Amino acid sequence: MTQYTMTIDGQPASSPGTLKVINPATGEVFAEVPDCTREQLDVAMESAQRAFNGWKDDYEKRRAVMYACADALEANAEELGRLATMEQGMPLPAGIGSVMGAARNFRWYADLDIPRVTVQDDDAALIEIVRRPIGVIAAIKPWNVPIGMAVNTIAPAFRAGCTVVLKPSPYTPVVTARLGEVLRDIVPAGVLTVVTGGNGVGQWMTEHPIPRGISFTGSIATGKRVNVAAAADLKRVLLELGGNDAAIVLDDADPADVAEKLFWPAFRNSGQICMAVKRVFVPEEMEQLVVAALAAKARSVKVGNGLDEGTELGPINNKPQFDRVKDLVAEAIEQGAVAAVGGHSIEGDGYFFEPTILTGVAEDTRIVDEEQFGPALPVLTYRTVPEAIERANATNYGLGASVWSADPLRAAEVAEKLEAGTVWVNTHMQLTHDAPFTGMKHSGLGSEMGLWSIYAYTDPQTVYRSRSQTVRERTGEAPEAW
Ligand code: NAD
Repeated sequence: MTQYTMTIDGQPASSPGTLKVINPATGEVFAEVPDCTREQLDVAMESAQRAFNGWKDDYEKRRAVMYACADALEANAEELGRLATMEQGMPLPAGIGSVMGAARNFRWYADLDIPRVTVQDDDAALIEIVRRPIGVIAAIKPWNVPIGMAVNTIAPAFRAGCTVVLKPSPYTPVVTARLGEVLRDIVPAGVLTVVTGGNGVGQWMTEHPIPRGISFTGSIATGKRVNVAAAADLKRVLLELGGNDAAIVLDDADPADVAEKLFWPAFRNSGQICMAVKRVFVPEEMEQLVVAALAAKARSVKVGNGLDEGTELGPINNKPQFDRVKDLVAEAIEQGAVAAVGGHSIEGDGYFFEPTILTGVAEDTRIVDEEQFGPALPVLTYRTVPEAIERANATNYGLGASVWSADPLRAAEVAEKLEAGTVWVNTHMQLTHDAPFTGMKHSGLGSEMGLWSIYAYTDPQTVYRSRSQTVRERTGEAPEAW
């Protein structure tokens, strides 16, 4: 069994304890990673703090390092992608794609101009606003897209001038540990630390006095705990949390077209994406057509081991999540829902679940009210558009939402009434660095993408250069605001 190491102060590190990592497609342990001790975390944080001073002021060096990181990711994409598939379950092209996407992210942030904003430039003063890196960032990540989520923090944090101490999920630590190994000789010691371990290591990171910022991606429940811990010494927090995205289909939409375009944003990565479509609202009279089209699509998809050629949907990542999806679907069916397709787990050793479309789902069913994060989609009916909007908004989640219609203007009007950080028209799950990705309500705190990520890892600094006498010298009086 392959053993992977942590990266602390630029060196490989093992621990007395280890975590075993299961391949969800087979249920078998295939790798081990260290279970970071508290002493090791202290050493890691201290080295990240030391490294910050040499790192933060040299943008050209950071840019060169980020380009080298991108090159290294691309050169190792096949191996890293395979590991992502083996520990997470996603089909191999998606595993490799997540590595290539991370490489592009490094280059994009390496070249990003962070503007120095002039707010006054006259006889009295030159006043500029610059961004200053906040220090060591503790990055704590989930299991759904390990490399993508990690580099979503590393790339902007490096561009901002911060150093990063990164902890992946205990379910998917391998590709991140390997990332640390691959980048060990490229990134200066202490600039990128990778520690592996259980939830307790995450908690120590949030309570540790050295990090000045926490970049957390994960569930709402943990995000709340992270926020409480961060408050003790006023660490900055960026929380990217769960979603329960609604898709509202309007009565002028073409059911077959909608089903075709909506299926993958709901089922990609077996539904284990924060901004996946998790609830579909259709007009009563369109229910049958939409459900039939979605069910046909679900039947045609190849489910299997992500390493097998042609696999389109892999397993659910871990046993607790597999049990949760099974329970949510069984409970909905007990309460009167009907599975138009699927509804059951698939026999075998892996955590496979049939792609499932549910109709006739009762109000107050958990699969509607909670984030299922799995390959099961409830289709709900509505009578009026205001009612659909109200029901879509009747939740503490607020990550994404979409509206589907033959009339994009009409759809946009509805979309803007939805309480979600991103609203899409006739698409879902599209992101761009030109726009913030924000979780409204309980779905997050702060925004990611583009300059918004930079704002999360920097504080604004006002540089006020006086060009005249002070107010007191000019007038003999104190300024009124005093
Ligand atoms: P999780 O909250 O269980 O775990 C996330 C990470 O937090 C893990 O590394 C875990 O070890 C660590 N952790 C657990 N307890 C901790 C504590 N008390 N203090 C500090 N760290 C702790 O989430 P998960 O099950 O791994 O991920 C799935 C969730 O992530 C879903 O809700 C999904 O929607 C969300 N997610 C959100 C985004 C986004 O950008 N909004 C992206 C991906 C995933």
